[in-house]
This record gives sequence, C-alpha cells and structure tokens, in this order.
Amino acid sequence: MRRGKTKTVDSNYVYLDYNATARVRPEVIETVAQVMSEVGNASSVHEPGRRARVVVEDAREAIAALVGAEAENVIFTSGGTEADNLALKGVGDRRLMVSSVEHGAVLAPAMLRDAGAVILPVDGEGRVLLDGLEAALQAADKPVLVSVMLANNETGVIEPVARIAEVAHGGDALVHCDAVQAAGKIPLDFQELGVDLMSLSAHKIGGPQGVGALVVRDDTRLAAQIIGGGQERGRRSGTENLPGIVGFGVAAGLAAQNLTDSNRLAAMRDEMERRLLAVAGAIERFGARVDRLANTSCLTMPGVASETQVMALDLAGIEVSAGAACSSGKVARSHVLEAMGVPDESAECAIRVSLGWDTREGDIDRLVAAWTEIHHRVAQAA
Ligand code: PLP
Repeated sequence: MRRGKTKTVDSNYVYLDYNATARVRPEVIETVAQVMSEVGNASSVHEPGRRARVVVEDAREAIAALVGAEAENVIFTSGGTEADNLALKGVGDRRLMVSSVEHGAVLAPAMLRDAGAVILPVDGEGRVLLDGLEAALQAADKPVLVSVMLANNETGVIEPVARIAEVAHGGDALVHCDAVQAAGKIPLDFQELGVDLMSLSAHKIGGPQGVGALVVRDDTRLAAQIIGGGQERGRRSGTENLPGIVGFGVAAGLAAQNLTDSNRLAAMRDEMERRLLAVAGAIERFGARVDRLANTSCLTMPGVASETQVMALDLAGIEVSAGAACSSGKVARSHVLEAMGVPDESAECAIRVSLGWDTREGDIDRLVAAWTEIHHRVAQAA
C-alpha cells in the first residue's frame, strides 16, 4: 500500500475517494505528532495529565463549534461506527425506525432488535418518504427512535432531516442523525436540525481514523455501552484517544474555516460529469436531481462492471470506489441504489467519485482522460 503523503510529496496518483476516507490535513499530522511526543493521561491530576485534559477539551470545543452544539454534549468515541452503535443501543428499549439507505453502522445494530426495525422507504432519488414515516410513527407499539443520515455516503444525497425531526418529535420519538458524511461538507447546526443525537467521524474531514463523536441533546438519557473507568462523564469509558481527539479537533477547526470550498468542489464535480456525459450520453447519475454533497458523484459507465472500472482506473493511478467499500475490500451490491429502485444492471455499473480538500482540476482531467480511454476500449471490444 502506498503511504499517505500530501500531494506536494506524492503526486503520482489521483485520490478521488474522500467519502471512504479523506486525506489527512498536514496541520493535523503536525499537531498529532507534537502531542504524541508528550506524556500525559487526561484523567491524571498531575501537570502532564492536566495539559492532556486541556487539549482534549479544546478539541471538544472545536468539534462542538463545527456542528453548533455545546462542548459538554460531545462524547468521544472510536469513530462513526461506535457513535451510531452508542446512539441506537444507548436509548434503551425503543422501536427503531431507520431509513433503507443508512450506513451499515446504523442498519446492523437496528437489525439486532428482537422484533427488528422499521425500515423507512426512500424515493427514486434516495430521500426518505415522509408519509411512510408518519404512518410508521402512528402504528408504533412503543417509544420510538428514528435514525436518518444527513448525507448519503454513496450518492451524497441530503436527507430532509430537520423536517423528519419535526414529524418525529410530533410523535414523541427521539431522532438520531448520522452526520458522518455531511459534517465539514455542508453547514451543520445541531440545534437547528432539531435532532437528539448526532454521529461524527474524524477521518471523513481530514482527521485521523479511529476517532469520532456522538453529540447528545442535554436531557437525552443514554446508557453507556462501554463501561469501566467512567471517562466522558460516564457515557463512554476508556482512556481518551489523545492523538486522535486532538487531530479531530484540528480537522474540525479547518473544516469550519473551509466550508465554502464546497463551491469549488461542486464546480469541478459538475464539470467532470458534463465532460463524461459528452463521452457517453447514456451515463446515469444517481441523486443528481436533488440536493447532494458538492464533492460526490455516483455514476455509471454503461455496460462496464463497477469492479472493472475501479481496477482499470486504479491501474491508471486514479482511486475511486464502487459504491460502498466493504471492510473485506470486496464490492457488495449497493443496498442504497437498490432502495432507490435502481435496476441491477445499472447499479452494477456504478462507481463513486468523491472529491476533497486536496483535489485539483488536473485530477479531474486525469480521471476524465482515463475514464474515456476505458470506455473507448470497452466499446471497441464489444
Ligand atoms: N456512517 C457513514 C454515513 C459513513 O459513511 C461511515 C464510514 O464510511 C460511517 C458511518 C462509519 O464511520 P467510521 O469509519 O468512523 O467508523
């Protein structure tokens, strides 16, 4: 595997898989390295411990500021997956209602429940159908937790979460929002969104992998899922991941300062789609008719399997992914496209291109050139 260096050092390949993980910001690497050179457990009362505590709390403030929340309501976790699990399991015995396009980190814990979860359908663009939610809330046999993501990892489609929270609260439900892909890419306000719980992950915003957070509304009762030393005010035990948390804080600060970068990314993404459509008019773009993240494009190369495209692009030094990347590295059928009613023959030809802070126009030129070459080669062979 190639080492993750910043583009100035390693410009041989074009990284366009930011929704899988973003390039770590150089400022993050620098600060994390500095913090790691010092000793200190944030729970220790001596001087190095107190210094560690200060940096943890500064990071908590930066993350809270990114999402318009109070620092004391930010619980650090080992990532977005743990934050999602903590939300769904920590609320106790509620009827879970989750959208059909959620990440596995929400879908898997939802399915663990004895009677299963209510799966909320989406429309052809991948947006949760509010009528379906209202009907499900009315039919609920016990208190409910609704979980809907803010932006989809495969298509970038933005869900009407504020409206969902309004409807759900009307039915006395709690609302969790997986904002792992949205944070740092669109302006985000925990209060305005009106949700009770929100998951975040550092590595999607240029921070380190293996650290995230669950943001909780003040009066939300949450049972800790990892118990022991009582860290995070008893809500998540374990010595704080000091380097991870510090890096998360730096990345959150930079993301907050650079939210307008989305205009630049949207222009590049749209130009890329326009040029590819000029090569092959039969391309399908998923979620392109509704609000979606500026950095994300989920599109087909007609007649060419996703895996073939990903491998051919990789050979050309261009890194994209086929829908959701599984931990095994295998490409699974996309449950997101399936929920949107996309026929198998289209879904099987879809790739996800996701841009980020280090993406430049030259990267898009190289992707378009390689994609065009692969397309022509396949057309000739046919
Ligand atoms: N939720 C969404 C929407 C994601 O895209 C991801 C990661 O791909 C996760 C949760 C899991 O986050 P993490 O990788 O930090 O465990």
